[in-house]
Amino acid sequence: MTCEELLQLINEMVDGELDLSVAECRQFAEHLAQCNPCQVVVDNIRKTIQLYRAGEPFPLPQPLQKRLVEALRHRWQERFGPVARARGNNP
Ligand SMILES: [Zn+2]
Repeated sequence: MTCEELLQLINEMVDGELDLSVAECRQFAEHLAQCNPCQVVVDNIRKTIQLYRAGEPFPLPQPLQKRLVEALRHRWQERFGPVARARGNNP
């Protein structure tokens, strides 16, 4: 199996159009075991699919996250007033 053939198989798998035969599966694994560029490609695709399925957000860059939190806090205080602190200490 060549790299092109392997990438073609991956494309079809991602599209959900492929059922690998046992022989193809073995060729796939054998190629992957000795081809570093293809390992990287497969690893990236696997991570992307896992992220997609897990529905996890990508981490925001720190400055953007800080601005977002500040904007949300500002909106909250506009609507609900200052955030109460240490609630429950004085009934
Ligand atoms: Zn390869």
